[in-house]
Amino acid sequence: MQAGEASLARRLPVAMAEPRAREVLALLHRRGRLTRAEIARLTGQSQAAVSLLVRTLIEAGLVQESLAAPRGLGRPAHHLGIAPGAWSVLSFEVVAGLLRLAVVAGDGSVLNATEQPLPTGTLGLHALIQRMLRMAAEADRGSAGPLLAASVSVSGVVHRGVVVLSAGLGLRQAPVAEPLSEELGVPVWLVNDMDARALAEHRYGVGRGVDHLVLVAVEPSGIGAGIVQQGRPFAGARGSAGELGHVTVERHGLACPCGKRGCLEVYGSENAIVSRSAHLLRLQRRRRPFVESPTEGFHYVRRQVEELWALAAADAGIRRIFEDAMDYLGTAVANLVTLFDPELVIVAGHLMKLLGPWGMTLLTQRVREGAFDPGAEHRKIVEAALGEDSGMRGAAYLAVDRMLAGD
Ligand SMILES: [Zn+2]
Repeated sequence: MQAGEASLARRLPVAMAEPRAREVLALLHRRGRLTRAEIARLTGQSQAAVSLLVRTLIEAGLVQESLAAPRGLGRPAHHLGIAPGAWSVLSFEVVAGLLRLAVVAGDGSVLNATEQPLPTGTLGLHALIQRMLRMAAEADRGSAGPLLAASVSVSGVVHRGVVVLSAGLGLRQAPVAEPLSEELGVPVWLVNDMDARALAEHRYGVGRGVDHLVLVAVEPSGIGAGIVQQGRPFAGARGSAGELGHVTVERHGLACPCGKRGCLEVYGSENAIVSRSAHLLRLQRRRRPFVESPTEGFHYVRRQVEELWALAAADAGIRRIFEDAMDYLGTAVANLVTLFDPELVIVAGHLMKLLGPWGMTLLTQRVREGAFDPGAEHRKIVEAALGEDSGMRGAAYLAVDRMLAGD
């Protein structure tokens, strides 16, 4: 820790403990780029009180001011925002086969991100925590502000710092937040990876200013949805809301690794596309374009699907498998739209990016056909704007948001 950083680290808790200062920080963190007048209006504090408070926060290095070009004829506006060096969050992402870590700055930008492969299924909680701590110790924090919190975006059901269930990670009732928090010396927040991505799009991406949205993603690790309602993640009573991969799409369908039958996961996922294609090619006594791997790692499934999609251009049978996956996915997303009435549906993940406009057109068509949708003309279905670090950015955002809210 550098000298300037040390004094900032002392001032940060003081600002966080003062309710009016915290309210302003929370607002700027949630909305970004506000003028003093807007802060006064939104907090109900007087302009004079806000000016005084803002000056203290700027002097403490927590808030920074920028001059924006005027809209129309007026004077240029002084916009306020959280300073990048105000604080930092160590934000992990744990999905089947992959562990990522980003150092997220006060303004939500990523300063540095690293990743390493994760053995699937067999790692265990203790080994996972050790790997995360090692990664945190090696992280290049560069110009990052003092460490405020850590966050973990997890592919699985999470509730109050515990991974309730993650089939891909082989974890059940695993208390991840507590040991991490003890070792890192800061609060640790766990969030489902899809909720984290939905939050990131809501704050920094294509969903900026939209308070009701859903994000749907098809990744090599599975299918999921993140739901943002009134600007907050909707996780349900025990954290399992939005497990879109496990909605039933065939009443007496194929067995799913989760123990149920007929889940979307076994019809519309990348793994489903790979296994159905392998079956088809076997029936036709044709050589598969790939060798099957015993580990089925994240990058491996990804490559298999890419090879199959290249094959689909000249192979109607393989293309039909991709179409079927879009049919099932579209039906499930239509039901999600009917249940939650989002303003925006954000489509993310490896598969949809691979399928490009072909996939988006098909999916949009299925959603429009399948949803009970009196407000359809107002609803947009769009591609995600953020990249692979969106889960880590969303998780860091949630951690800071909750801390500033005093949770
Ligand atoms: Zn299932």
